[in-house]
Amino acid sequence: MAWEGEPRAVELSPGVYAYLQPRGEWFVNNAGFLVGRKEVVVIDSVASVRRAERFLAEIRRVTDLPVRYLVNTHAHADHLWTNHLFRPLLTLCHRRCREDTLREREVDPHLYLTLFPQLEVEGVRVSPQDLTFDTILTLHQETEEGEREIRMVHPGPAHTYGDLFLHLPKEGVVFCGDLLFSPPCTPFVLMGSVKGSIETLELLQSLKARVYVPGHGALSWGEGALREAEEYLRLVWREAERGVREGKTVEELVAEINLGKYDSWTEKERLLGNLERAHRELKGAPEMSREEILQVMVRMWGQAKG
Ligand SMILES: [Zn+2]
Repeated sequence: MAWEGEPRAVELSPGVYAYLQPRGEWFVNNAGFLVGRKEVVVIDSVASVRRAERFLAEIRRVTDLPVRYLVNTHAHADHLWTNHLFRPLLTLCHRRCREDTLREREVDPHLYLTLFPQLEVEGVRVSPQDLTFDTILTLHQETEEGEREIRMVHPGPAHTYGDLFLHLPKEGVVFCGDLLFSPPCTPFVLMGSVKGSIETLELLQSLKARVYVPGHGALSWGEGALREAEEYLRLVWREAERGVREGKTVEELVAEINLGKYDSWTEKERLLGNLERAHRELKGAPEMSREEILQVMVRMWGQAKG
């Protein structure tokens, strides 16, 4: 499937749609929706009013049913800035995702423009979710054919500290959120855990789904993209270990690493953020503050330009 063109909904199984936004660069996420007999479940919103209107139009092309639930896979702005435009009756996410959403609410979206000048932030809003869970929550959605089981699972720290994926066992579909970045997008785990991300990718592969919907990048039919993302993160981990052993800085490692096939992937600057995260994990350093994360992002850009 070509990975260019217009954003569109793709039916993966009757009533189960991935909403794909091509190229998947910063803030251009994939989402999804599940059509039942009485209502629609939306999986993540998108990063601007214009993008949300387009997503809504794709839902309306398929069904007039109201959006009853909106699930956020994690608390990054591109996945939740337009929750309110879908008018869900109930929004839900992992407990930690809501805590991060509350912190996100304190940030003026215009501040993002310094790092991402292409964003359209007018009309976006951070709306804290209504319902949270800790480990696993199952939604039973009535469909024309019977019932759809929607398992929402928190795998532990991975892309962030509050991720979830949605597993539809009968349909063989997994909505991964940003637990999976697939080609051509480089994985990004600065706000989570390199180790945890590798383990989560293993867990996702063990589900043997027919298709995996990544948070950014192209659909993965079978486990191919998960294996590639896992290999990339294993490379990051090995290089971070070498860095600690040889007393190298993250910047020195970035200059030395041969990315091989990942060199042709987009957002390569993320290597610095991923190495920084691995470095801190290896040194037993705790989670990073918002300010520390911002400093690393600035270094990523400095390195990408220099
Ligand atoms: Zn994310």
